[in-house]
Amino acid sequence: MEKRTILYIEDDPASRRLVTRFLLHAGYHVLTAASGLQGIDVVRESLPDLVLTDINLPDMTGHEIASTLRGEERFRTLPIVALTALGYGGQRDIAMAAGISGYLSKPLNMEKLRENIEFYLNGGQEQIDPDRLSAAQTQYIKEIATRSEARIRQLEEAHEDLLKLDRMKETFIEITAHELRTPLTLVVGYIHLLQEYPLMVNMMQGDLGLYNLMNGLMGSMERLQMVVNEILTISRIMSNQIEMSIAPLDLGGVAQKVVAFYAPVLEERRLTLHFNRDEWPSNMLADGELLRLVIHNLMGNAIKYTPDDGHIILGAQVANGQVGFYVQDTGIGIDPADQTHIFERFNTGAQQVELHSSGKTTFGGGGLGLGLSICKGIIEAHSGHIWVESPGRNPESCPGSKFTVTLPLSPSRPDEA
Ligand code: ADP
Repeated sequence: MEKRTILYIEDDPASRRLVTRFLLHAGYHVLTAASGLQGIDVVRESLPDLVLTDINLPDMTGHEIASTLRGEERFRTLPIVALTALGYGGQRDIAMAAGISGYLSKPLNMEKLRENIEFYLNGGQEQIDPDRLSAAQTQYIKEIATRSEARIRQLEEAHEDLLKLDRMKETFIEITAHELRTPLTLVVGYIHLLQEYPLMVNMMQGDLGLYNLMNGLMGSMERLQMVVNEILTISRIMSNQIEMSIAPLDLGGVAQKVVAFYAPVLEERRLTLHFNRDEWPSNMLADGELLRLVIHNLMGNAIKYTPDDGHIILGAQVANGQVGFYVQDTGIGIDPADQTHIFERFNTGAQQVELHSSGKTTFGGGGLGLGLSICKGIIEAHSGHIWVESPGRNPESCPGSKFTVTLPLSPSRPDEA
Protein backbone atom coordinates (compact mmCIF):
# COMPACT_ATOMS: atom_id res chain seq x y z
CA MET A 1 0.00 0.00 0.00
CA GLU A 2 1.23 3.49 -0.82
CA LYS A 3 2.74 5.33 2.11
CA ARG A 4 0.54 8.10 3.50
CA THR A 5 2.08 11.53 3.92
CA ILE A 6 2.04 13.38 7.22
CA LEU A 7 3.03 17.00 7.62
CA TYR A 8 4.43 17.73 11.06
CA ILE A 9 4.48 21.41 12.10
CA GLU A 10 6.81 22.12 15.02
CA ASP A 11 9.23 24.98 15.69
CA ASP A 12 11.53 23.17 18.10
CA PRO A 13 14.17 21.31 16.02
CA ALA A 14 14.79 18.61 18.64
CA SER A 15 11.08 17.71 18.94
CA ARG A 16 10.79 17.88 15.17
CA ARG A 17 13.58 15.34 14.73
CA LEU A 18 12.24 13.03 17.41
CA VAL A 19 8.62 12.90 16.25
CA THR A 20 9.72 12.65 12.63
CA ARG A 21 11.74 9.59 13.55
CA PHE A 22 8.69 8.04 15.29
CA LEU A 23 6.47 8.71 12.29
CA LEU A 24 8.99 7.30 9.82
CA HIS A 25 9.32 4.26 12.02
CA ALA A 26 5.54 3.87 12.02
CA GLY A 27 5.68 3.69 8.22
CA TYR A 28 4.67 7.17 7.08
CA HIS A 29 6.18 9.55 4.62
CA VAL A 30 6.96 12.73 6.58
CA LEU A 31 7.10 16.40 5.64
CA THR A 32 8.02 19.04 8.20
CA ALA A 33 7.52 22.76 8.67
CA ALA A 34 9.04 25.02 11.32
CA SER A 35 6.28 27.62 11.50
CA GLY A 36 2.55 27.92 11.02
CA LEU A 37 2.73 29.93 7.81
CA GLN A 38 5.31 27.58 6.34
CA GLY A 39 3.06 24.67 7.31
CA ILE A 40 0.06 26.20 5.55
CA ASP A 41 2.19 26.70 2.42
CA VAL A 42 3.31 23.07 2.51
CA VAL A 43 -0.29 21.88 2.88
CA ARG A 44 -1.35 23.91 -0.14
CA GLU A 45 1.59 22.72 -2.22
CA SER A 46 2.00 19.09 -1.19
CA LEU A 47 -1.53 18.12 -0.10
CA PRO A 48 -0.52 15.76 2.76
CA ASP A 49 -2.96 13.12 4.02
CA LEU A 50 -2.79 14.38 7.60
CA VAL A 51 -1.43 17.40 9.46
CA LEU A 52 0.07 16.97 12.88
CA THR A 53 0.73 20.29 14.54
CA ASP A 54 2.18 21.70 17.71
CA ILE A 55 -0.19 24.15 19.41
CA ASN A 56 2.15 26.98 20.33
CA LEU A 57 4.12 28.11 17.34
CA PRO A 58 5.90 31.46 17.19
CA ASP A 59 3.83 32.95 14.37
CA MET A 60 0.40 31.40 14.95
CA THR A 61 -1.31 28.75 17.05
CA GLY A 62 -2.21 25.27 15.86
CA HIS A 63 -5.84 26.37 16.26
CA GLU A 64 -5.33 29.21 13.83
CA ILE A 65 -3.67 26.88 11.33
CA ALA A 66 -6.75 24.63 11.50
CA SER A 67 -9.18 27.56 11.08
CA THR A 68 -7.21 28.92 8.11
CA LEU A 69 -7.15 25.56 6.34
CA ARG A 70 -10.80 24.81 7.07
CA GLY A 71 -11.66 28.03 5.29
CA GLU A 72 -10.68 26.30 2.04
CA GLU A 73 -13.19 23.84 0.65
CA ARG A 74 -10.54 21.26 -0.31
CA PHE A 75 -9.31 21.03 3.30
CA ARG A 76 -12.70 20.73 5.02
CA THR A 77 -12.12 17.05 5.78
CA LEU A 78 -8.32 17.01 6.01
CA PRO A 79 -7.37 15.39 9.33
CA ILE A 80 -5.65 18.08 11.43
CA VAL A 81 -4.39 16.64 14.68
CA ALA A 82 -2.94 18.69 17.54
CA LEU A 83 0.03 17.37 19.44
CA THR A 84 -0.66 18.55 22.95
CA ALA A 85 1.12 18.45 26.27
CA LEU A 86 -0.51 16.98 29.32
CA GLY A 87 -2.73 19.49 31.09
CA TYR A 88 -4.11 20.73 27.81
CA GLY A 89 -7.57 19.60 28.86
CA GLY A 90 -9.14 23.07 29.23
CA GLN A 91 -8.20 24.00 25.68
CA ARG A 92 -9.58 20.93 24.01
CA ASP A 93 -13.06 22.33 23.40
CA ILE A 94 -11.50 25.38 21.82
CA ALA A 95 -9.34 23.17 19.62
CA MET A 96 -12.50 21.46 18.34
CA ALA A 97 -14.17 24.83 17.78
CA ALA A 98 -11.16 25.92 15.71
CA GLY A 99 -11.45 22.89 13.41
CA ILE A 100 -8.93 20.49 14.92
CA SER A 101 -9.98 16.88 14.26
CA GLY A 102 -8.46 15.55 17.46
CA TYR A 103 -5.25 15.39 19.43
CA LEU A 104 -2.39 13.18 20.42
CA SER A 105 -0.74 13.66 23.79
CA LYS A 106 2.96 14.20 24.38
CA PRO A 107 5.00 12.19 25.06
CA LEU A 108 3.84 10.06 22.15
CA ASN A 109 2.88 6.52 22.84
CA MET A 110 5.01 4.68 20.29
CA GLU A 111 3.07 1.45 20.51
CA LYS A 112 -0.24 3.10 19.77
CA LEU A 113 1.06 5.78 17.38
CA ARG A 114 0.15 4.01 14.18
CA GLU A 115 -3.26 2.99 15.51
CA ASN A 116 -3.97 6.56 16.66
CA ILE A 117 -2.88 8.13 13.38
CA GLU A 118 -4.88 5.59 11.33
CA PHE A 119 -7.99 6.55 13.34
CA TYR A 120 -7.76 10.11 12.03
CA LEU A 121 -6.62 9.05 8.56
CA ASN A 122 -9.79 6.97 8.30
CA GLY A 123 -11.99 9.96 9.08
CA GLY A 124 -12.05 9.62 12.87
CA GLN A 125 -12.98 12.74 14.83
CA GLU A 126 -13.06 13.63 18.52
CA GLN A 127 -16.63 14.11 19.63
CA ILE A 128 -17.87 17.09 21.57
CA ASP A 129 -21.22 17.99 23.04
CA PRO A 130 -22.98 20.66 20.83
CA ASP A 131 -23.57 23.04 23.77
CA ARG A 132 -19.93 22.93 24.76
CA LEU A 133 -18.94 23.39 21.11
CA SER A 134 -21.04 26.53 20.81
CA ALA A 135 -19.60 28.01 24.04
CA ALA A 136 -16.08 27.13 22.84
CA GLN A 137 -16.73 28.83 19.49
CA THR A 138 -17.71 32.08 21.24
CA GLN A 139 -14.62 31.85 23.41
CA TYR A 140 -12.40 31.13 20.41
CA ILE A 141 -13.70 34.15 18.46
CA LYS A 142 -12.91 36.36 21.47
CA GLU A 143 -9.40 34.93 21.67
CA ILE A 144 -8.81 35.52 17.97
CA ALA A 145 -10.01 39.14 18.25
CA THR A 146 -7.70 39.80 21.22
CA ARG A 147 -4.74 38.21 19.49
CA SER A 148 -5.38 40.07 16.23
CA GLU A 149 -5.39 43.36 18.07
CA ALA A 150 -2.13 42.51 19.85
CA ARG A 151 -0.54 41.54 16.54
CA ILE A 152 -1.66 44.70 14.78
CA ARG A 153 -0.04 46.69 17.60
CA GLN A 154 3.15 44.65 17.28
CA LEU A 155 3.20 45.22 13.53
CA GLU A 156 2.68 48.94 13.98
CA GLU A 157 5.60 49.09 16.40
CA ALA A 158 7.81 47.06 14.08
CA HIS A 159 6.81 49.33 11.19
CA GLU A 160 7.74 52.42 13.23
CA ASP A 161 11.11 50.87 14.11
CA LEU A 162 11.79 50.07 10.48
CA LEU A 163 10.93 53.59 9.40
CA LYS A 164 13.28 54.93 12.05
CA LEU A 165 16.05 52.60 10.87
CA ASP A 166 15.42 53.60 7.28
CA ARG A 167 15.71 57.30 8.19
CA MET A 168 18.95 56.58 10.08
CA LYS A 169 20.31 54.75 7.05
CA GLU A 170 19.37 57.61 4.71
CA THR A 171 21.02 60.12 7.04
CA PHE A 172 24.13 57.96 7.32
CA ILE A 173 24.41 57.66 3.54
CA GLU A 174 23.89 61.36 3.06
CA ILE A 175 26.44 62.38 5.69
CA THR A 176 29.00 59.91 4.35
CA ALA A 177 28.56 61.04 0.76
CA HIS A 178 28.69 64.67 1.86
CA GLU A 179 31.87 64.13 3.85
CA LEU A 180 33.48 62.36 0.88
CA ARG A 181 32.47 65.04 -1.57
CA THR A 182 34.46 67.92 -0.11
CA PRO A 183 37.91 66.26 -0.11
CA LEU A 184 37.14 64.69 -3.50
CA THR A 185 36.40 68.06 -5.03
CA LEU A 186 39.74 69.29 -3.70
CA VAL A 187 41.65 66.29 -5.04
CA VAL A 188 40.07 66.67 -8.49
CA GLY A 189 40.93 70.40 -8.40
CA TYR A 190 44.55 69.67 -7.45
CA ILE A 191 44.92 67.11 -10.22
CA HIS A 192 43.57 69.67 -12.68
CA LEU A 193 46.11 72.20 -11.43
CA LEU A 194 48.86 69.62 -11.65
CA GLN A 195 47.89 68.74 -15.21
CA GLU A 196 48.12 72.38 -16.20
CA TYR A 197 51.29 73.16 -14.23
CA PRO A 198 53.91 74.24 -16.81
CA LEU A 199 56.61 71.89 -15.54
CA MET A 200 54.14 69.01 -15.58
CA VAL A 201 52.90 69.93 -19.06
CA ASN A 202 56.53 69.80 -20.28
CA MET A 203 57.16 66.51 -18.56
CA MET A 204 53.98 64.94 -19.92
CA GLN A 205 54.85 66.06 -23.44
CA GLY A 206 58.10 64.18 -23.21
CA ASP A 207 56.78 61.16 -21.37
CA LEU A 208 53.74 59.30 -22.70
CA GLY A 209 53.71 57.02 -19.63
CA LEU A 210 53.35 60.00 -17.31
CA TYR A 211 50.65 61.50 -19.53
CA ASN A 212 48.63 58.27 -19.42
CA LEU A 213 49.14 58.01 -15.67
CA MET A 214 47.79 61.50 -15.06
CA ASN A 215 44.83 60.92 -17.37
CA GLY A 216 44.02 57.61 -15.69
CA LEU A 217 44.20 59.26 -12.26
CA MET A 218 41.92 62.06 -13.35
CA GLY A 219 39.43 59.69 -15.01
CA SER A 220 39.18 57.54 -11.88
CA MET A 221 38.79 60.51 -9.57
CA GLU A 222 36.06 61.98 -11.77
CA ARG A 223 34.23 58.69 -11.78
CA LEU A 224 34.45 58.49 -8.01
CA GLN A 225 33.17 62.04 -7.77
CA MET A 226 30.26 61.21 -10.04
CA VAL A 227 29.28 58.16 -7.95
CA VAL A 228 29.41 60.20 -4.72
CA ASN A 229 27.31 62.93 -6.33
CA GLU A 230 24.77 60.38 -7.57
CA ILE A 231 24.46 58.90 -4.09
CA LEU A 232 24.05 62.33 -2.56
CA THR A 233 21.39 63.36 -5.08
CA ILE A 234 19.45 60.14 -4.69
CA SER A 235 19.52 60.26 -0.90
CA ARG A 236 18.20 63.82 -1.02
CA ILE A 237 15.48 62.85 -3.46
CA MET A 238 14.52 59.88 -1.30
CA SER A 239 14.31 61.90 1.89
CA ASN A 240 12.33 64.63 0.08
CA GLN A 241 15.10 67.10 0.68
CA ILE A 242 15.58 67.92 -2.94
CA GLU A 243 16.01 71.67 -3.26
CA MET A 244 14.31 72.90 -6.40
CA SER A 245 14.99 76.28 -7.80
CA ILE A 246 12.22 76.91 -10.29
CA ALA A 247 13.05 79.66 -12.77
CA PRO A 248 12.45 80.54 -16.44
CA LEU A 249 14.31 77.98 -18.48
CA ASP A 250 15.44 77.43 -22.05
CA LEU A 251 15.14 73.63 -22.13
CA GLY A 252 16.44 73.50 -25.71
CA GLY A 253 19.58 75.26 -24.51
CA VAL A 254 19.97 72.74 -21.70
CA ALA A 255 19.60 69.83 -24.12
CA GLN A 256 22.13 71.43 -26.45
CA LYS A 257 24.68 71.67 -23.64
CA VAL A 258 24.28 67.97 -22.89
CA VAL A 259 24.71 67.24 -26.61
CA ALA A 260 27.90 69.31 -26.65
CA PHE A 261 29.17 67.43 -23.58
CA TYR A 262 28.71 64.05 -25.25
CA ALA A 263 29.82 65.12 -28.76
CA PRO A 264 33.39 63.72 -28.48
CA VAL A 265 32.10 60.35 -27.21
CA LEU A 266 29.45 60.19 -29.92
CA GLU A 267 32.13 60.76 -32.49
CA GLU A 268 34.52 58.27 -30.97
CA ARG A 269 31.83 55.59 -30.87
CA ARG A 270 30.45 56.60 -34.31
CA LEU A 271 26.98 57.10 -32.89
CA THR A 272 24.67 59.33 -34.94
CA LEU A 273 22.64 61.77 -32.89
CA HIS A 274 19.39 63.23 -34.21
CA PHE A 275 18.69 66.45 -32.36
CA ASN A 276 16.71 69.47 -33.50
CA ARG A 277 16.77 72.32 -31.05
CA ASP A 278 13.71 73.96 -32.66
CA GLU A 279 11.46 71.17 -31.33
CA TRP A 280 12.34 72.12 -27.77
CA PRO A 281 10.66 74.80 -25.66
CA SER A 282 12.81 77.83 -25.02
CA ASN A 283 10.67 79.18 -22.24
CA MET A 284 9.33 77.08 -19.42
CA LEU A 285 9.46 77.14 -15.64
CA ALA A 286 11.57 74.41 -14.06
CA ASP A 287 14.83 73.66 -12.32
CA GLY A 288 17.40 73.80 -15.12
CA GLU A 289 20.20 72.02 -13.27
CA LEU A 290 17.97 69.09 -12.30
CA LEU A 291 16.49 68.71 -15.80
CA ARG A 292 20.04 68.86 -17.22
CA LEU A 293 20.86 65.93 -14.96
CA VAL A 294 17.87 63.98 -16.33
CA ILE A 295 18.78 64.55 -19.98
CA HIS A 296 22.42 63.86 -19.12
CA ASN A 297 21.57 60.50 -17.49
CA LEU A 298 19.19 59.41 -20.26
CA MET A 299 21.70 60.33 -22.96
CA GLY A 300 24.50 58.63 -21.00
CA ASN A 301 22.46 55.42 -20.82
CA ALA A 302 21.54 55.56 -24.52
CA ILE A 303 25.26 55.83 -25.31
CA LYS A 304 26.21 53.12 -22.84
CA TYR A 305 23.64 50.60 -24.05
CA THR A 306 23.96 51.20 -27.81
CA PRO A 307 26.74 49.48 -29.74
CA ASP A 308 29.09 51.54 -31.94
CA ASP A 309 27.61 52.88 -35.21
CA GLY A 310 24.10 53.11 -33.73
CA HIS A 311 21.59 55.96 -33.70
CA ILE A 312 20.20 58.08 -30.87
CA ILE A 313 17.28 60.50 -31.15
CA LEU A 314 16.95 63.27 -28.58
CA GLY A 315 13.54 64.65 -29.53
CA ALA A 316 10.88 66.88 -28.01
CA GLN A 317 7.48 68.35 -28.66
CA VAL A 318 5.28 70.89 -26.96
CA ALA A 319 1.50 70.53 -26.74
CA ASN A 320 -1.31 71.49 -24.34
CA GLY A 321 0.89 73.21 -21.80
CA GLN A 322 3.18 70.18 -21.61
CA VAL A 323 6.59 69.36 -22.94
CA GLY A 324 7.34 65.80 -23.87
CA PHE A 325 10.92 64.83 -24.60
CA TYR A 326 12.44 61.46 -25.33
CA VAL A 327 15.71 59.66 -25.82
CA GLN A 328 15.43 56.78 -28.26
CA ASP A 329 18.29 54.48 -29.12
CA THR A 330 19.14 51.47 -31.26
CA GLY A 331 20.64 49.68 -28.27
CA ILE A 332 20.25 46.34 -26.56
CA GLY A 333 16.72 47.11 -25.31
CA ILE A 334 15.08 46.26 -21.98
CA ASP A 335 13.14 43.20 -20.96
CA PRO A 336 9.43 44.04 -20.31
CA ALA A 337 9.75 42.45 -16.85
CA ASP A 338 12.50 44.96 -15.94
CA GLN A 339 10.85 48.05 -17.35
CA THR A 340 9.38 49.26 -14.06
CA HIS A 341 12.14 47.95 -11.75
CA ILE A 342 14.94 49.84 -13.47
CA PHE A 343 13.50 53.06 -12.03
CA GLU A 344 14.11 51.73 -8.52
CA ARG A 345 17.33 52.41 -6.66
CA PHE A 346 20.29 50.12 -7.25
CA ASN A 347 18.33 48.21 -9.84
CA THR A 348 20.17 47.39 -13.00
CA GLY A 349 17.56 45.16 -14.63
CA ALA A 350 19.08 42.09 -16.22
CA GLN A 351 22.59 43.40 -15.63
CA GLN A 352 24.79 42.81 -12.64
CA VAL A 353 25.55 45.88 -10.53
CA GLU A 354 29.16 46.68 -11.29
CA LEU A 355 30.72 48.66 -8.52
CA HIS A 356 34.05 48.86 -10.30
CA SER A 357 32.09 50.91 -12.83
CA SER A 358 33.86 50.69 -16.14
CA GLY A 359 33.61 53.85 -18.25
CA LYS A 360 30.21 55.53 -18.17
CA THR A 361 30.13 55.82 -21.93
CA THR A 362 31.77 52.63 -23.13
CA PHE A 363 29.35 50.12 -24.60
CA GLY A 364 27.99 47.94 -21.81
CA GLY A 365 29.87 49.98 -19.18
CA GLY A 366 28.82 49.26 -15.62
CA GLY A 367 26.78 51.47 -13.34
CA LEU A 368 25.33 51.63 -9.87
CA GLY A 369 21.72 51.52 -10.98
CA LEU A 370 20.99 54.98 -9.58
CA GLY A 371 20.68 57.14 -12.71
CA LEU A 372 17.08 56.30 -13.57
CA SER A 373 15.82 56.55 -10.01
CA ILE A 374 17.39 60.01 -9.85
CA CYS A 375 15.58 60.90 -13.10
CA LYS A 376 12.29 59.60 -11.74
CA GLY A 377 12.68 61.54 -8.48
CA ILE A 378 13.45 64.76 -10.33
CA ILE A 379 10.65 64.38 -12.87
CA GLU A 380 8.09 63.54 -10.20
CA ALA A 381 9.22 66.54 -8.16
CA HIS A 382 8.25 68.56 -11.27
CA SER A 383 4.82 66.82 -11.38
CA GLY A 384 5.88 64.95 -14.51
CA HIS A 385 6.10 61.36 -15.69
CA ILE A 386 8.87 59.18 -17.02
CA TRP A 387 8.58 55.76 -18.60
CA VAL A 388 10.32 53.43 -20.99
CA GLU A 389 9.17 51.48 -24.01
CA SER A 390 11.19 48.66 -25.51
CA PRO A 391 10.26 45.41 -27.29
CA GLY A 392 12.71 43.50 -25.09
CA ARG A 393 16.39 42.98 -24.40
CA ASN A 394 18.54 41.43 -27.09
CA PRO A 395 22.20 42.43 -27.33
CA GLU A 396 22.42 40.76 -30.76
CA SER A 397 19.44 42.18 -32.62
CA CYS A 398 19.38 45.44 -30.60
CA PRO A 399 15.65 46.30 -30.62
CA GLY A 400 16.31 49.66 -28.90
CA SER A 401 14.64 51.59 -26.07
CA LYS A 402 12.73 54.82 -25.81
CA PHE A 403 12.63 56.81 -22.59
CA THR A 404 9.93 59.47 -22.54
CA VAL A 405 9.42 62.33 -20.09
CA THR A 406 6.37 64.59 -19.91
CA LEU A 407 6.35 67.77 -17.84
CA PRO A 408 4.06 70.75 -17.36
CA LEU A 409 5.58 73.87 -18.95
CA SER A 410 5.00 75.62 -15.66
CA PRO A 411 4.48 73.95 -12.28
CA SER A 412 0.94 74.09 -10.95
CA ARG A 413 0.34 76.52 -8.10
CA PRO A 414 -0.37 74.83 -4.76
CA ASP A 415 -4.09 75.78 -4.98
CA GLU A 416 -4.35 74.01 -8.36
CA ALA A 417 -2.61 70.85 -7.26
P1 ADP B 1 23.09 52.28 -14.49
O1 ADP B 1 23.06 52.64 -15.95
O2 ADP B 1 24.06 53.08 -13.71
O3 ADP B 1 23.17 50.81 -14.23
P2 ADP B 1 20.40 53.36 -14.40
O4 ADP B 1 19.50 53.60 -13.23
O5 ADP B 1 20.73 54.54 -15.26
O6 ADP B 1 21.71 52.71 -13.82
O7 ADP B 1 19.76 52.25 -15.30
C1 ADP B 1 19.28 51.08 -14.69
C2 ADP B 1 19.29 49.91 -15.65
O8 ADP B 1 18.37 50.16 -16.72
C3 ADP B 1 20.62 49.71 -16.38
O9 ADP B 1 21.51 48.94 -15.57
C4 ADP B 1 20.20 48.98 -17.63
O10 ADP B 1 20.01 47.59 -17.37
C5 ADP B 1 18.84 49.58 -17.93
N1 ADP B 1 18.90 50.66 -18.94
C6 ADP B 1 18.84 51.99 -18.72
N2 ADP B 1 18.86 52.69 -19.87
C7 ADP B 1 18.94 51.78 -20.86
C8 ADP B 1 18.99 51.87 -22.29
N3 ADP B 1 18.96 53.03 -22.94
N4 ADP B 1 19.03 50.69 -22.99
C9 ADP B 1 19.05 49.51 -22.34
N5 ADP B 1 19.02 49.35 -21.00
C10 ADP B 1 18.96 50.47 -20.26
